[in-house]
Amino acid sequence: MDIRPSHRAQLVKVSPTLAITAKAAELRAAGQNILNLAAGEPDFDTPAHVKLAAIEAINRGFTKYTAVDGTPELRAAIVEKFARENNLEFEPRQILVSCGCKHSIYNLMQALLNEGDEVIIPAPYWVSYPDMTWLAGADPVIIKTHIDHQFKITPEQLRGAISSKSRLFIMNSPSNPTGACYSATELRALGAILAEHPEIVIASDDIYEHILWRGHDFKNILNACPELGDRVVVLNGVSKAYAMTGWRIGYAAGPPEIIAAMKKIQSQSTSNPTSIAQVAATAALTGDQSLLQQQCEIFRERHEFVVDALNNIDGVKAMRSDGTFYSFPDMSQIIENRNDIDNDVELAELLLERAAVAVVPGSAFGAPGCMRVSYATSMAILEQALGQIAAVLNS
Ligand code: PLP
Repeated sequence: MDIRPSHRAQLVKVSPTLAITAKAAELRAAGQNILNLAAGEPDFDTPAHVKLAAIEAINRGFTKYTAVDGTPELRAAIVEKFARENNLEFEPRQILVSCGCKHSIYNLMQALLNEGDEVIIPAPYWVSYPDMTWLAGADPVIIKTHIDHQFKITPEQLRGAISSKSRLFIMNSPSNPTGACYSATELRALGAILAEHPEIVIASDDIYEHILWRGHDFKNILNACPELGDRVVVLNGVSKAYAMTGWRIGYAAGPPEIIAAMKKIQSQSTSNPTSIAQVAATAALTGDQSLLQQQCEIFRERHEFVVDALNNIDGVKAMRSDGTFYSFPDMSQIIENRNDIDNDVELAELLLERAAVAVVPGSAFGAPGCMRVSYATSMAILEQALGQIAAVLNS
């Protein structure tokens, strides 16, 4: 039988990180101690009270279907979270709980986009945005940024990217992979351009909001530009803030018509997210929040160490980020100077083979020449890994 994948499946590109991941697995299997600076999730355990809530849910038999858009308790907790932490007012019908923030973004694109529509995505971007755009039949329009501009787009760049086909603009602040976070002033300047284009929906991916150490509170584009409220969809989840990546709970909040369309799509695909994980997420959002600050402080200390260590390597330029657990150094000078490599993927392979450290090449994020270095790992591993990277690159 001649089995051919659908056109849709063929649209999704193979991730440039796969080669590195496969190579790292091969080296590990051969007994090598590969240090992992490629992780996209916190190295902390899920808080004990959250795990306990899930165990109790299982024991009392809370193991059946729930409402498609999430339990009333979780949606109420999300409404309360937005009011408490973000100063945003939503009604429960404006909330859709999904299987991770990734699923929320997928639902949004499926609910919104048609063939030929354009999605404006600032680069470096989170790896899934372009592929999800293609899967929805639309085309990504990438705005390139530079480390010398903190990897942030300017209002002029945004204006230049808008066309009659623009349907969605996606912002991720603080950003994976750069760690850059837009200020309210910067968001207002972008919002002024978007105000002229009422046909564009704005997605604000706030998944890293709690891993932020810059001197002021987190603000998203809806805080900065409340007048855009009828077309901003806020996307978030418990994965990064509460070390709950495996529980798969994310959520979207936005205009009722958009949320209803997303809910309809979810109802014919996954239905509700896992009942037990919803109880756990409710416990995370309503329980003790002091751990958020403690974890953030640990990431900040690691960030200081990693950025200094990277900048001490000849030819590496690392920016001080505002948050997240990633540094995104520009290593193009090194690639240019060495004659044994031609690009960032080959540099990542070299670091894997010679320094025994796994990092993710920037081209996966639409920024060739850079490298994503995750510090979601212990200081001891970071010290060892950065020492080994420096030894190879300075030799
Ligand atoms: N958005 C960004 C920017 C991310 O980095 C991630 C995960 O890596 C997600 C969304 C998806 O998060 P979740 O685990 O909730 O699906």
